[in-house]
Amino acid sequence: MEDLKRIERSVLARARRAKAPADVAEIRAEVLGKKGPLGLALRSLGELPAEERPAAGQKINQLKGKIEAALDEAHARVQANARADELESGAQDVTLPGRRVVPGNPHPLRIVERDIIRALESLGFAVAHGPQVEHDWYNFEALNFPPDHPARDTQDTFFVSDAVVLRTHTSNVQIRTMVKGKPPIRILAPGMVFRHDEIDATHTPCFHQIEGLWVDDKATFADLKGVLHVFAARLFGPERKVRFRPSFFPFTEPSAEMDVSCALCGGSGKGGCRPCKGTGWIEIMGAGMVDPAVFEAVGYDPEKVQGFAFGMGLERIALLRWGVDDIRLFYENDLRFLEQFRPGDTR
Ligand SMILES: [Zn+2]
Repeated sequence: MEDLKRIERSVLARARRAKAPADVAEIRAEVLGKKGPLGLALRSLGELPAEERPAAGQKINQLKGKIEAALDEAHARVQANARADELESGAQDVTLPGRRVVPGNPHPLRIVERDIIRALESLGFAVAHGPQVEHDWYNFEALNFPPDHPARDTQDTFFVSDAVVLRTHTSNVQIRTMVKGKPPIRILAPGMVFRHDEIDATHTPCFHQIEGLWVDDKATFADLKGVLHVFAARLFGPERKVRFRPSFFPFTEPSAEMDVSCALCGGSGKGGCRPCKGTGWIEIMGAGMVDPAVFEAVGYDPEKVQGFAFGMGLERIALLRWGVDDIRLFYENDLRFLEQFRPGDTR
């Protein structure tokens, strides 16, 4: 009994002095372990006369409970102290402002794509998609590219195999849509395209296009101009003028380039205006009436259907819209750049 009193006094004193959770754990292992004083006391019960054993056993268990409670209390105390020390030492500075949650934001090219689709969908266009790895037939052959056309050279096109390419435009979606369905067709085909270009301020080997296709039994070049007038007014503002210049593409006849008047100089070109190079006009897209050879390729009767197509590069529109002078900025994923563009911004 004397021993138990001594153990109690010394253990409780040590628990009070404990400074860290490790100190408490050490006492617990030492005192309550099998080889600790309480374990020894329990084992030495056998040496006592039989009638004294129950009372002694009870005392030992009571002491064990008391010590466990004291150690739990000590543990709670040292943990609270450790936390307070941490705060005091500045490991956690509660005066610092909270971390700002940064909301996500569409990529500028996605913003441009969305705005173009929005400008045209009320005219009846629906969005269509197609593969980026494409058969030569859908990318070139059906689009009336002759076998010796320079675009079919490995200098310009990424070939996966002899008959498979990374699509050089989203026109493959036009072909796939016509092969699958019957007129009337009004689609917009946005997506990534690939060309064998060296990377510089205005070129990257992959970029984005959006193309439109309108096919029925009576679409004319006047309809094409009407659609693109509406589109330009919605995307660039009603004050901008539009002009069409003759051009050439294998898959349209006649073909045209569409320019809009320069926003910076108001179309005057005065003062060596940079965006329009002093011409007052900025080239926006290519367009034209679908070539009869394309209709024949997809199984339409060119005597019965007619239509028009147009296409533009998203990067080019984005560069012009925001006055960005290097296309590579769109791909470097520098948040300081990307965070500047919000949907609805027109600079
Ligand atoms: Zn200008």
